[in-house]
Amino acid sequence: MLELTELRAAVLEANLALPRYGLVTLTWGNVSGIDRAAGVMVIKPSGVPYERLRAEDLVAVALDGTVIGGRLRPSSDTDTHLQLYRAFPGIGGVVHTHSTHATAFAQAGREIPVLGTTHADLSALPVPVARALTEAEVAGGYEEATGTILVEAVGDRGPARVPAVLAPGHGPFAWGADPHGAVEVAATLEEVARMALLTYQLAPGTGVLPAHVTAKHFSRKHGPGATYGQGGGGQGRGGQGGVGRGSSAHDSVERGGATRGDRW
Ligand SMILES: [Zn+2]
Repeated sequence: MLELTELRAAVLEANLALPRYGLVTLTWGNVSGIDRAAGVMVIKPSGVPYERLRAEDLVAVALDGTVIGGRLRPSSDTDTHLQLYRAFPGIGGVVHTHSTHATAFAQAGREIPVLGTTHADLSALPVPVARALTEAEVAGGYEEATGTILVEAVGDRGPARVPAVLAPGHGPFAWGADPHGAVEVAATLEEVARMALLTYQLAPGTGVLPAHVTAKHFSRKHGPGATYGQGGGGQGRGGQGGVGRGSSAHDSVERGGATRGDRW
């Protein structure tokens, strides 16, 4: 049987980061990661409190949904995660939370516009809200259909430019090059949503950040000319295409994970 020791450790660490970043209440959140060579996803088990979660509790699931390792039932959101991995071959980690401010936007059915540079460092585009699910979709395979509407919301812009989507009336889903990167996107998204809400409270008519400033901030952290962090210009080239690294593109360079961004 596949051991997936490193992946289990990374997924455990990423799940434990959710309460640390204040992104979850009780067990309302989950992180998964994937071993692309093996075609196996590792995900949090359903309903297990974070303080009791151990690497061996994580559940291994093949891309077709077959549970292949673990004693516990996988997260109820498993089919949503699988749908994202199937649609986006370049992603290596997925996070779902009901973090308060991002979920408020999801419940209001409102995208999060690019109001400032914190958002632009993550993505140059608004965080979109997926379309509503039909009654038939909810009845016929709710979790997989949720994945489908998230993929639709990303569209041909791709998962690197749109690293998170809000499921309407539900909450955010985020992804990255690996589980750690996906959690960074989820944490940044929650902060961006909180700032946006506060901004609209102060000044409801606030406009979006000028496009040239947005473009500047996004390109500083992502893409071939990225200059943020300590990775060095040479190292950063060609491997920095992945938005999922959130605010620390240099981390992936240091951890040698940058080449995984090439396919994004
Ligand atoms: Zn949920």
